[in-house]
Amino acid sequence: MYCTNCGGQMGDEDRFCARCGHAAGGPQASAPFAPRERLSRDIANKKIAGVCAGIARHMGWDVTIVRVVFLAAILFKGAGLLAYVIGWLCMPANGNRAYVPAQPAS
Ligand SMILES: [Zn+2]
Repeated sequence: MYCTNCGGQMGDEDRFCARCGHAAGGPQASAPFAPRERLSRDIANKKIAGVCAGIARHMGWDVTIVRVVFLAAILFKGAGLLAYVIGWLCMPANGNRAYVPAQPAS
């Protein structure tokens, strides 16, 4: 792969040219951070309503850790239960649909 700006050689995994800093081609060229999946309940991996699974998927965490934290919060003062119910009510169900990133308005 070669830089489209200065013609310098680039590695296939490089996102920016080492010589001139020009962004490489491809879908990630203008978005250095991959767009996160929308926060939604993960119905496919749910135990109760998919709130923990949805949070874990959105943040890139292990779903078991999220569940343990929620359970600890519930046992501690019940705050986890309130947070879970709020998440249940507010987070849209995602189901098995593939995530389609929103097109930038321009
Ligand atoms: Zn370059």
